[in-house]
Amino acid sequence: MFDYLIVGAGFAGSVLAERLATRSNKKVLIIDKRNHIGGNAYDHYNEEGVLVHKYGPHIFHTNSKEVFEYLSNFTDWRPYEHWVLASVDGQHVPIPINLDTINKLYGTNMTSFEVDAFFESQAEEVPVIRTSEDVVVSKVGRELYEKFFRNYTRKQWGLDPSELDKSVTSRVPTRTNRDRRYFTDTYQAMPLHGYTKMFEKMLDHPNIKIMLNTDYHDIINVIPFKEMIFTGPVDEYFDFKFGKLPYRSLEFKHETLNKEWHLEAPVVNYPNEHLYTRITEFKALTGQQHPKTSIVYEFPRAEGDPYYPIPKPENAELYNKYKKLADETPNVHFVGRLATYKYYNMDQVVAQALTVYKKLTEKEKEEKGT
Ligand code: FAD
Ligand code: UDP
Repeated sequence: MFDYLIVGAGFAGSVLAERLATRSNKKVLIIDKRNHIGGNAYDHYNEEGVLVHKYGPHIFHTNSKEVFEYLSNFTDWRPYEHWVLASVDGQHVPIPINLDTINKLYGTNMTSFEVDAFFESQAEEVPVIRTSEDVVVSKVGRELYEKFFRNYTRKQWGLDPSELDKSVTSRVPTRTNRDRRYFTDTYQAMPLHGYTKMFEKMLDHPNIKIMLNTDYHDIINVIPFKEMIFTGPVDEYFDFKFGKLPYRSLEFKHETLNKEWHLEAPVVNYPNEHLYTRITEFKALTGQQHPKTSIVYEFPRAEGDPYYPIPKPENAELYNKYKKLADETPNVHFVGRLATYKYYNMDQVVAQALTVYKKLTEKEKEEKGT
């Protein structure tokens, strides 16, 4: 008899497996329908020996000391500050939009003060910022919105930014200085030997059994357990009772090239050209030295593996119905990006899982009356 069945061996499932096994001495069975651990953060050495992220580029960044220190138990780090160029009007310019972006794009030589005034002159007045269009046009105006955000977002989400929650484009700031970093978090680093190695270390404990290539439907009535942690799509758990929750998918096209470097930056975004949104060159992220280089193209798709919850009001409403049901389901705990239908980064999922662990231990203490 297992104390916990954990469905999904990504960040949500693996953090909980590790905490429950090592801190609470629980017997845990963690399963995944895929043939590997790590969830969407899984990385591996491809046939040519280059370390690649199977499900697209994963860059770790967080402001949470607790999350960073927690993961540091399982990996050393390689300091890495991510940066990205966008292909716009035939040039490659920094995104997030900054002083250099504007000067390069318009052939100007503005100062920070001047570019600030320029943004102000371009910005549209938006009384209440609700959508992903509002966020951008209220800061930098319609022209830059059209060049950098409108088409990228339509391609990525299959929706106009005016249909998406403000939280989506709010992920990308606008700057008047020359800071080219994609993120400004306190901790920015890549696991020194990759994500999969970190997951292997997290799950290496006698109280943890791992079963891969296993869908929970196949074992749920066969293997006895007391409680379940579910990290797959919440609508699937409830047999789509209220209808399908929309998730956006991607198709990844991986390529290895017979040269040392390919791109001018770790990632190049293509807002207005091509059917893919961006190209990533993995060695820039991982620091690996290799005579060849591996890249990945991301093609957005309506169908396929669920990668992104789609933040818009109707979807939040539908999710709330599932959440109510989830809250009422005894002994099953829903954790992670798919099970709580949140556009979470890795660190947010780790933080959520650590919080769930604390709640579980408190609940147990209460039940024991200690
Ligand atoms: P997942 O990693 O999706 O794990 C869920 C697991 O459950 C999966 O392995 C799945 O196979 C399994 N599962 C589902 N259903 C079943 C079932 N029926 N039976 C058995 N197993 C099942 N975050 C960052 O912080 N930085 C980034 O740079 C970044 N880049 C990203 C790029 C892309 C293209 C994507 C898609 C995401 C990115 N993220 C990034 C987000 C990051 O991937 C997630 O926050 C994190 O991996 C979520 O962890 P999770 O455990 O909630 O879900
Ligand atoms: N975005 C955009 N143009 C860009 C970069 C981002 O329009 O050059 C928008 C787009 O809607 C995207 C969102 O901002 O989905 C969030 O971008 P991020 O790079 O955080 O996406 P992720 O890495 O999660 O796919």
